[in-house]
Amino acid sequence: MTVRVPAKVNLQLGVGPLRDDGYHDLVNVFHAVSLFDEVTAVPAREPRVTVEAAPDAQVAIQDVPVDGGNLALRAARLLAGRLGVEPDVELRIRKAIPVAGGMAGGSADAAAALLACARLWDADPDAAGLPELAAEIGSDVPFALLGGTAVGLGRGERLTPVETSGTFHWVFATADGGLSTPAVYAECDRLREAGGEAAPWPRASEELMKSLAGGDARALGAALANDLQPAALMLRPSLRRTLDAGRELGALGALVSGSGPTTAFLAGSAGHAADLAAALAQEGVARQVVRAHGPVPGATVV
Ligand code: ATP
Repeated sequence: MTVRVPAKVNLQLGVGPLRDDGYHDLVNVFHAVSLFDEVTAVPAREPRVTVEAAPDAQVAIQDVPVDGGNLALRAARLLAGRLGVEPDVELRIRKAIPVAGGMAGGSADAAAALLACARLWDADPDAAGLPELAAEIGSDVPFALLGGTAVGLGRGERLTPVETSGTFHWVFATADGGLSTPAVYAECDRLREAGGEAAPWPRASEELMKSLAGGDARALGAALANDLQPAALMLRPSLRRTLDAGRELGALGALVSGSGPTTAFLAGSAGHAADLAAALAQEGVARQVVRAHGPVPGATVV
């Protein structure tokens, strides 16, 4: 049973005040893009996970845990507990989504494992309550099941699909080494405190919603926003050069993806994305430059 699952880029990531439970209230506009991991679930004597890189993908698979810390394995165990079956499954992960890159690769693998194991164990995905199990694993996991474009409220897990027209064309620049998501949030809090800034209550941007509904890439490029970007740039100053290079080369919008260090550039067409990707690769400001389009569906059995 093989499931294909997309990466996400945050079109808007509005970070509100720190809550008592240690999370922040977020407005998160998720957008699923055509950069996919695959998770294959096969019956085994005991739970096990293997990880390999997809052809041509320069992903740091050595940084992915193959023990109980792997999010896909955690997902399989959680589902097995819910269904009352033994979690005896081997999960074979083929990664193209950058590791610790701000594109929710681990969350994507967890969502894929939920769907693959539900099928393997003959559970009805609706009856098994996959979205609720997904939210237990992590804030970004429910979106990886859903795909498309959606606004996430709360910790990001309360999802409402967003209307979009047409296809948007993206270029992603990956970076060497990951950034820890908790470290980036902590830096965001630190910068706000140092600046005496009260965290604003985040709201979904109307310009962004209009640009998505109208399929207007230029307006979308202008409306992209990420409250974590200053923190990610503080922790990884070299990303500024990458963002500047993309803008100078004519990207309609440029931002750090989620908590980084992957950077995302919006192009006006598939051809523009190809030109932008080639030019950006020439600049030598990225580990790898990849093209993708969105929105695409969430976790899907192949
Ligand atoms: P997000 O955008 O949700 O903040 P991310 O894209 O920055 O996440 P991930 O690739 O999801 O980061 O990985 C974060 C950490 O999770 C990794 O450093 C790794 O140790 C751990 N991890 C656990 N399971 C996986 C998995 N299946 N794939 C990748 N990383 C995993």
